[in-house]
Amino acid sequence: MLGPVILAASRSDRMRRVVSAAPVTKPVVNRFIAGESVEETVPVIESMAGRGLEVTLDVLGEDITDPTEALAARDAYLRLIEALAPLELGVRAEMSVKLSSFGQALPGGHDLALKNVTAVVEAAAEIGTTVTLDMEDHTTIDSTLAIHGELRERFPQTGAVVQSYLFRTEEDCRALAEAGSRVRLVKGAYKEPASVAYQDKREVDRAYVRCLRILMNGGGYPMVGSHDPRLIAITQNLALRAGRKLDEYEFQMLYGIREAEQDRLAAEGHRMRVYIAYGTDWYGYFMRRLAERPANLAFFLRSLVSR
Ligand code: FAD
Repeated sequence: MLGPVILAASRSDRMRRVVSAAPVTKPVVNRFIAGESVEETVPVIESMAGRGLEVTLDVLGEDITDPTEALAARDAYLRLIEALAPLELGVRAEMSVKLSSFGQALPGGHDLALKNVTAVVEAAAEIGTTVTLDMEDHTTIDSTLAIHGELRERFPQTGAVVQSYLFRTEEDCRALAEAGSRVRLVKGAYKEPASVAYQDKREVDRAYVRCLRILMNGGGYPMVGSHDPRLIAITQNLALRAGRKLDEYEFQMLYGIREAEQDRLAAEGHRMRVYIAYGTDWYGYFMRRLAERPANLAFFLRSLVSR
């Protein structure tokens, strides 16, 4: 019930100011965000690698208003790639980017975002890794998938994300499940209207399984982004039935969520990738985590009263 309210707040500048300024917020934010800078985040990446976990890195930022901010977002990723180079992790450390932070919503935004993200994908390829394009609200999907298609002409490893809460997604999965593609399947984290998305959680879960089946039986590389134990078990089952080996798909979870499960899956021989977000612009990302799960919100509220 509270989820949609929190998601609406995630888009409010007034709430952003209130939540960001509250002194209690920071320790709670730190549970989900690896650090504010690349320097703080590199030791986290090294510790994940030491635990046999792979990572995808998100330099926080979205909803920019000016092309110079888009250049700053691009440059932040280029600095990250420079810091990753000596670690020699290859695809074990890939990047996740939100095209909104690269200017997608500005006038001429499609071309601007394509230009900025191309610079990041090229630099990533030079150190033997790749980029996945995060999926944002439904109004951005056609542009994001078009940019994904253009990037794949030169960099076929570039990943896409699909969200099972959207009615269109099964069709998108069919189009994306081709040889060489990398597709992350998630439930979806934005507040979407009933005209485009399932509103009932059970419907979203059922659609997730239908999409998973399409991806597992297709020719691409499925990346299963979920903390849901039921969906994890179904994934293992469908992968087995599709004749996939353990390195022919992977699990993905967010930093700070179900860490014991991350270790368990890695110990079983699964490829387990942790999505690590860092940076100072954490508000939207943090609010979506609160909206996803009452326990996350309770954790935040408890820290308010236990000061
Ligand atoms: P939920 O429905 O949130 O939870 C299902 C069950 O999982 C719970 O009942 C519980 O048993 C277990 N669980 C969940 N959280 C916890 C917890 N904290 N502790 C213990 N058990 C827990 N969304 C987008 O819209 N675009 C993206 O590009 C995107 N990228 C993502 C990348 C990754 C790697 C991941 C993991 C998620 C991403 N998301 C993205 C967010 C996603 O859409 C969901 O909002 C988020 O993953 C929550 O859904 P869930 O599948 O984990 O299950």
